[in-house]
Amino acid sequence: MTACSKCHAPAITYIRYNGTHLCAEHFFDYVERRVKKDLKKQWKTTGTEIIAVALSGGKDSTTVLHLTHLIFSKRRNITLHAITVDEGIRGYRDHSLPIAKRNCQALGIEHHIVSFKDVVGHTMDEIAARHDDIGECSYCGVFRRRCLNQKSQGLGVDRLITGHNLDDMAQSILMNFTNADLAKLARLGPHTKVQPGFVPRSLPLRTIPEQEVMLYAILHGFEFHNAECPYAVRAARGTFRDVLATLEDVTPGTRHSILKSYDDLREMLLEQYPSMRLNHCRRCHEPTSQQYCKTCLLIQRLEST
Ligand code: SF4
Ligand SMILES: [Zn+2]
Ligand SMILES: [Zn+2]
Repeated sequence: MTACSKCHAPAITYIRYNGTHLCAEHFFDYVERRVKKDLKKQWKTTGTEIIAVALSGGKDSTTVLHLTHLIFSKRRNITLHAITVDEGIRGYRDHSLPIAKRNCQALGIEHHIVSFKDVVGHTMDEIAARHDDIGECSYCGVFRRRCLNQKSQGLGVDRLITGHNLDDMAQSILMNFTNADLAKLARLGPHTKVQPGFVPRSLPLRTIPEQEVMLYAILHGFEFHNAECPYAVRAARGTFRDVLATLEDVTPGTRHSILKSYDDLREMLLEQYPSMRLNHCRRCHEPTSQQYCKTCLLIQRLEST
């Protein structure tokens, strides 16, 4: 059996992009050190803060919930919440909700559920039944952001934590480049500035590859929902996942290089594409750079067809 590169214990994993074998203990340490280091770069906590974790119940958000608890739960001036968005996807989200709830109960974190039906008036299953050309995920992403932001504001949250991993980040960076959407690329997060009306986000797992998040969750015995959304097959993201998997296979470390290039370019992008002056949406009064916010435009689209 191969020994850990840091001690003599048996290795449980091989980190291909840096050539190290790690035992469980050193693997945990490797993940936690990078998460803490990146979080420090993303934002500095100042006194009393309320933090919420966006928790779907999948491996990424469950892991980030446990890591956030590990890092912040002993700090008396920090309050932790978890928010689960119920998109209304039968056979999928109804399976992950009880798992999310059990994880919060085990950690003593207050759990909140916010549904598409309550906030935008339509479930994802109802939206999907319309077979709109723009695809389910175009609605889902915008409505999820609205639900999380609205609930976070209601709870007085200062910082929202999401479970995006390195693979998600690298895919999003490539997708925005390919779509020539550099303004969106500039604002991918983590958010360093607070924009009125929007709760800033931090992404503690952004440097951790998806497989490492999975291994961390399994080795810790976290209960998580391991299924794919039935509407994911239509998502463009799948193509980028395949392309990146091929690139990573040929050149280990590609995902890290893409993220590093993005981080190096980010300041320039933010200068080139500064935040626009925000108005209030004419319909819902939430902040938007247009007359109507994206959520209201999509609701109008649903209600006019
Ligand atoms: S795959 Fe698309 S529809 Fe399904 S949860 Fe993700 S964004 Fe929503
Ligand atoms: Zn070791
Ligand atoms: Zn609106």
